[in-house]
Amino acid sequence: MANGDDDARLLAEGVAAANIPTLLMVLVQLTGEQDWLEPPYRPRRAHGMGDNDTGRLPDAIQAEIRESALEAIVAWRAGRPVAIPSPTPELLVRMLSCAMGDEIPLDYAPMMASQNGLDQVLASPIERVPEGFRVLVIGAGVSGLAMAVNLQVAGIPFQVVEKGRTVGGTWRENRYPGAGVDSPNHLYSFTFAPHDWSMFFALREELQGYLELVTDAFGLRDAIRFETEVESATYDADAQQWEVDVRCADGTNETLKATVVVAAAGIFNPAKFPAIRGLETFEGPCFHTAQWREDFDLAGKRVAVIGNGASAMQLCPAIQNIVESMTIFQRSSQWAAPFEQFQKPVPQALRYLFNEVPLYRQWYRTRLGWTFNDRIYDSLHKDPTWPHPERSLNPTNDAHREFFTQYIVSELGDRTDLLDLALPRYPPFGKRMLLDNGWYRMLRNGRVTLVGDSIAEVRPNQVVTEDGREFDVDVLIFATGFDVLRFLSAFDVRGRSGCTLRERWGDDDARAYLSVAVPDFPNFFVLYGPNCQPGHGGSFMFVAEMVIHYVMSVLTQMAEEGIASVEIRQDVHDQYNESVDREHEQMVWTHPGMETYYRNSKGRVVVNYPFRNIEMWNKTRQADLTEFITEAPATQHVEERQSV
Ligand SMILES: Cc1cc2nc3c(=O)[nH]c(=O)nc-3n(C[C@H](O)[C@H](O)[C@H](O)COP(=O)(O)OP(=O)(O)OC[C@H]3O[C@@H](n4cnc5c(N)ncnc54)[C@H](O)[C@@H]3O)c2cc1C
Repeated sequence: MANGDDDARLLAEGVAAANIPTLLMVLVQLTGEQDWLEPPYRPRRAHGMGDNDTGRLPDAIQAEIRESALEAIVAWRAGRPVAIPSPTPELLVRMLSCAMGDEIPLDYAPMMASQNGLDQVLASPIERVPEGFRVLVIGAGVSGLAMAVNLQVAGIPFQVVEKGRTVGGTWRENRYPGAGVDSPNHLYSFTFAPHDWSMFFALREELQGYLELVTDAFGLRDAIRFETEVESATYDADAQQWEVDVRCADGTNETLKATVVVAAAGIFNPAKFPAIRGLETFEGPCFHTAQWREDFDLAGKRVAVIGNGASAMQLCPAIQNIVESMTIFQRSSQWAAPFEQFQKPVPQALRYLFNEVPLYRQWYRTRLGWTFNDRIYDSLHKDPTWPHPERSLNPTNDAHREFFTQYIVSELGDRTDLLDLALPRYPPFGKRMLLDNGWYRMLRNGRVTLVGDSIAEVRPNQVVTEDGREFDVDVLIFATGFDVLRFLSAFDVRGRSGCTLRERWGDDDARAYLSVAVPDFPNFFVLYGPNCQPGHGGSFMFVAEMVIHYVMSVLTQMAEEGIASVEIRQDVHDQYNESVDREHEQMVWTHPGMETYYRNSKGRVVVNYPFRNIEMWNKTRQADLTEFITEAPATQHVEERQSV
């Protein structure tokens, strides 16, 4: 906190730059005056997914809100207590409905309370943990770190093994220019670790820094064994524990034992390379975005980028003016939405407000938690009566299509010749919706060529397309994504029957109950498992926290009730997966008009969660152990048998 005069000035500047609907909520909570929730102060709904900074209110009303909010904040800083420290669920939903200009159903209240910091997603301390009960977490990315924090808070002994030299996972690995999030960071951060973000959508250095900070803030580093790679994990049913073979930093092998294994190995690996004739003959540097050559200077080079998905959309605009020329080979076009805060720094004054007035930060996050939530869920359902099923799903999805199309047209300007290549034919949201960071405008750059024809072959210094065009290139960059569909493919996991996960799942058909539990694999949980990712929006950090809450609920019950093993019942697992597949049939992700990494070779969606986020929230609150086969400790069985 700055000294008196500076504090007053910085607060005033922060309030002057603040988002009006957020400020309004701070004002209501600080003063308790609920008239602010009604017209003429009630914000109007935003078009699109932007922050709606003005609330679409007249200038005079905005000024009145800012003035009153500043007064209330100054009074609170001077010692006046918050009038409504904990809004009731009804009031919380009423406030959020006002702040969004939407009608938010009451059942979202508990989830929104967690976004708001009124309730926590984090586990509670456990009273009694049985001797020898121990959890091994594989991976120290977002999921593994959040799991470790929860285990630590609960007081369950654990260890994390991480093959890399430090934490971060995705954000440690993806170092290409422009790498960053397309979820806003005041939402894409742990509920238990708010942060002073310098950008609304951070780049990878800041994300990596954040994860390093969380690791140290929670004292996790000593619990992580770095440069230790899991090679296999085998369940010993007699001992009711896992034996995990790891390769250590010094090249030796070791077997670690644990009651429970949590696999948090991520899905965005390994890097995927397409099979292209003649690729091995290419003479220049050739690398994947996830294996970025930081030693290599692209300046003045003729660069070919293969792929135009999420990584290319970030990379290409970032390097367009460094290279001599850039040819982008696309397989299909992508929808990308405008978002006014994208690539913008958070103004210093606003950072002060975020840091010094937690209510502002909490309400800002809560609003994002609604925008990037179930708001568009209904519009992603196929309407069987809709007459244009090839281009959209229903009237709302068609309106989205029109909105995004107009945006693309306006960005391409006089380059209408590019429209055919740049405009997707499939419905919006069919693939992961991207944020436009200047992609369409970049296509107008004279150095950039977008090619829609398939690549026929690569020669020592050329890429040749099926239609016979030859492109001279010095560098080949693969922005071709990851082998997402083969969950946990990097190591063998062997369950109770001796069967491996790979054998059970086939090549690319992974299934799990609630994305975490698999029959025949007792005491084994997957984070970022099959059908975990909400395709319609959200922050994976919050998703990870929800899923971990469920795992912690299982572990807490195991510890407190002295249960030695839990294994999800086959019937429960099957029924759940049938419901997943059934729901997906109604959703955009099974639309035949596009290829997507969400679907496996059989066309089954294995990556996305098909239900509303609120359903995931409700299902992950409390594990029902009647859905599991549970075992008492083996020693207890022996004692029981002996006493009989
Ligand atoms: C470029 C990019 C941008 C993204 N942007 C967003 C976004 O905007 N919003 C969003 O919600 N999500 C985004 N994601 C998804 C992102 O992956 C998740 O948000 C999150 O980082 C996943 O964390 P994780 O811990 O589950 O997996 P990872 O980050 O992949 O971490 C897994 C860890 O496990 C380790 N590991 C793997 N195998 C082993 C082994 N055998 N032994 C030991 N350790 C092992 C790895 O080294 C790694 O550190 C993005 C992904 C990418 C690639």
